[in-house]
Amino acid sequence: MSPRYAVFGQPIAHSLSPHIHAAFARQEGIELDYTAIESSPEGFAAALESFAASGGAGANVTAPLKETAFALCKTFTSRAKLAGSVNTLLRKGDYWHGDTTDGVGLVRDLTDRHELDLRGRRVLLLGAGGSARSVAPALLDAGIRELVVVNRTPERADELVDAIGEPGRALSRYWDDLRDLGDFELIVNATSAGRDREAKFELPLSLVNTMTTAVDLNYGDAAVAFLAWARAASCRNMVDGLGMLVEQAASSFQQWHEVRPDTDPVYAELRAKNALAGEE
Ligand code: NDP
Repeated sequence: MSPRYAVFGQPIAHSLSPHIHAAFARQEGIELDYTAIESSPEGFAAALESFAASGGAGANVTAPLKETAFALCKTFTSRAKLAGSVNTLLRKGDYWHGDTTDGVGLVRDLTDRHELDLRGRRVLLLGAGGSARSVAPALLDAGIRELVVVNRTPERADELVDAIGEPGRALSRYWDDLRDLGDFELIVNATSAGRDREAKFELPLSLVNTMTTAVDLNYGDAAVAFLAWARAASCRNMVDGLGMLVEQAASSFQQWHEVRPDTDPVYAELRAKNALAGEE
C-alpha cells in the first residue's frame, strides 16, 4: 500500500495545505498522495482509523479537530504535550504520534523571513485556543522577555499560563484591562475573531510603541480587521499568517519525509496571490 497523507478539518475545501505539500514534493522529487478530508469532531476518530487502514502515514489537522486529534495520539513531542493540541500526526506502527508545528512555524517566519529579533521583546498574545497554546511556548523559547496572554474567556488564558509554568515571564490579564497593560514590541492575534466579516478590533492605541510589530495568525479576509487596526495604530511592521502556514507545513513535511523543503518559492507564489490585507 503506498503511503497517504491528508489534512483533516471542517470546513476544509479552501485549505492551502494540499497545494503547499504538492509543491514541496515536486521540489524534492517525491511522489505524494496528499488530500483534504472533511471531518466533524464526532466523526474524526473513525475517519482517522479508516485513513490509517488505507495507508495513512501522516496527517495535518486543523480547526476544529486539534484537541480531538491530541486525544487520539498515543505519544507526543514535548511541545505538543504542553499545547494539549496537535496539528501533525505521524503513523508509527499501529498508533499515531502527535506534534504541534504552529509555534515553531510562526517563530521561523518572524525570525528568518521577516528578520525580527524576538529577544528581549515584551509580547501581547490575544487568544488562548489551540494555536495560541503552540505559539506561546515557542515565543518564550525564542527569548522574548515577557508574555502577556489575554483571552475573551479569561479562564483559558489562566490555563495556558499555568501550563507554561514561568510565573515571572508569562502572565494572564483580562481583556477589559488592555488599556492598563502598557505597550508591547510584539502583538500577536491568535484569535479567530476576524473570521466574522463584521468583526472590528477596537484595541487601545496605548498598546503600541515605536517598535511594535503586529502579527495576525490569520491571512486573507480573516486578517483584515486586526491588520486594519494595526495600520491605524501606526504599528511599525505588520505580518499575516501566510508565512507561518508555509513554515508549519514544512515542519510537518520534514517529519514525514526526512527532508526540509525550501519554503521561499512556495511562500512567494502564495504571496503573489494573497496580498497582505489592505495592500493593493
Ligand atoms: P481555536 O478555535 O482553538 O481558538 C480560537 C480563539 O479565538 C480563542 O482564544 C477564542 O476565545 C478566540 N475568539 C474567537 N472569537 C472571538 C471574538 N469574537 N473575540 C475575541 N476572541 C475570539 O482556534 P485556533 O487557535 O486553532 O486558531 C486561531 C486562528 O488562527 C484561526 O482563525 C486560524 O485559522 C488561525 N491559524 C493560522 C495558522 C497559520 O498557519 N497561519 C495556524 C493555526 C491557526 P475563547 O476562548 O473566548 O473562545
